[in-house]
Amino acid sequence: MKIDTKLMHPRDQIIHTINRIYYHGLTTTTGGNISVIDGNGDIWVTPSGIDKGSLRREDIMVVRSDGTVEGPHKPSSEFPFHKAIYDNRPDIKAVIHAHPPALVSFSIVHTIPDTNVIPQAKNICGPIGYAPYELPGSQLLGNNIAKVFKEAYNAVIMENHGVVVGGTDLKDAFQRFETLEFCARTIINAKTIGSVKSLSDEDIESFESQIPVLQPEQDHVEYPSDEREIRQQITNIVRRACQQGMMISSYGTVSCRWRNNDFLITPTNVLRWDITLDDIVQIRDGKREPGKVPSRSVWLHQEIYRKHPEINSIILTQSPYLMAFGVTGEKFDVRTIPESWIFLQDVPIVPFGSHFKGKKIIPELISKDIPAVIIENDSVLVTGDKLLQTFDRLEVAEFSAKSLTMAKPIGQLQAIGDKEVEALRQKFLN
Ligand SMILES: [Zn+2]
Repeated sequence: MKIDTKLMHPRDQIIHTINRIYYHGLTTTTGGNISVIDGNGDIWVTPSGIDKGSLRREDIMVVRSDGTVEGPHKPSSEFPFHKAIYDNRPDIKAVIHAHPPALVSFSIVHTIPDTNVIPQAKNICGPIGYAPYELPGSQLLGNNIAKVFKEAYNAVIMENHGVVVGGTDLKDAFQRFETLEFCARTIINAKTIGSVKSLSDEDIESFESQIPVLQPEQDHVEYPSDEREIRQQITNIVRRACQQGMMISSYGTVSCRWRNNDFLITPTNVLRWDITLDDIVQIRDGKREPGKVPSRSVWLHQEIYRKHPEINSIILTQSPYLMAFGVTGEKFDVRTIPESWIFLQDVPIVPFGSHFKGKKIIPELISKDIPAVIIENDSVLVTGDKLLQTFDRLEVAEFSAKSLTMAKPIGQLQAIGDKEVEALRQKFLN
């Protein structure tokens, strides 16, 4: 369900967010806690020691602005640091704390993840702070964390403990939390297979300053049933990609050809978990649906559809194992198992910025034999016929990247030989 921070009650916002975090492997059953402060100064917070997998809206506790506690349980034992953050930062309205595995890895080696590995992370996470260890639940821990937040940090690694992030609302906090854990996972996977290359601040600026050159608006829009069918398919695939760990809130574009070179595409600046039918943007005769802003990569999608009539859907996304190849530049050799090679053939890596407006490299590189490319420090782009087929191809790519990464400590890849590959080509691709 979409998290509507404007109209949804804090209880429901917290329940939906905790579900995303728990069922996405970002917290244990009892670890981690979430709070929201409302316009009355009341703080809504997860209860202490209650199963995150079956939390109901009635379980959420409220600590009124006068200190009165209401609800059937005890507020989270970490309530003191939530309160300390709100006391010191009136602009912060939601706080998420958890022990997600990759950020805990950074926390236990006393290091901060470098958010310059992918383009949007630095702006979303901001500079990352570091709070020294103190006893969990203590006022001293609250003081340590509040001190770092007071220095204008919105995301803080807690020494030998975990992470805490704040946001202007719960969506903002969730996006920051998820993006930071994604950076941490990407860096750890990348260091397993090679050495990490980061973007310069100028590269990130060049990404952020790509002002979407907006196509003209259509005068009159129609939504026939086949158009609506595609809208539904895109919405379903985006949700599924988020659930399967193939996309995060802050990045990713899905498009699908409609008629001729007309297509539908996901919007810019909408959290991917929350995309609904109404957010999808119709592009007809090179014109956009009025009032909507398509993904920044709309130009690239249009070029690919024009140039490749056999391609009917495109997914551009970040996933934690493919991005390990993207940030190291290591060769992504898919001659691992027959499935991987049949689905992907060879996957080249192209330089950062190859997907910016006006660059022809990707539309020219994509072919029947090259259905996917990795864009350095940015994303993976996968093409195909039906959208589900393209998604399947993306999953195969991510699984292959994961197997290659996991194989690294146990031995060298023994790739399938040329003769065997030729036999696969004959049997499955001709
Ligand atoms: Zn904790």
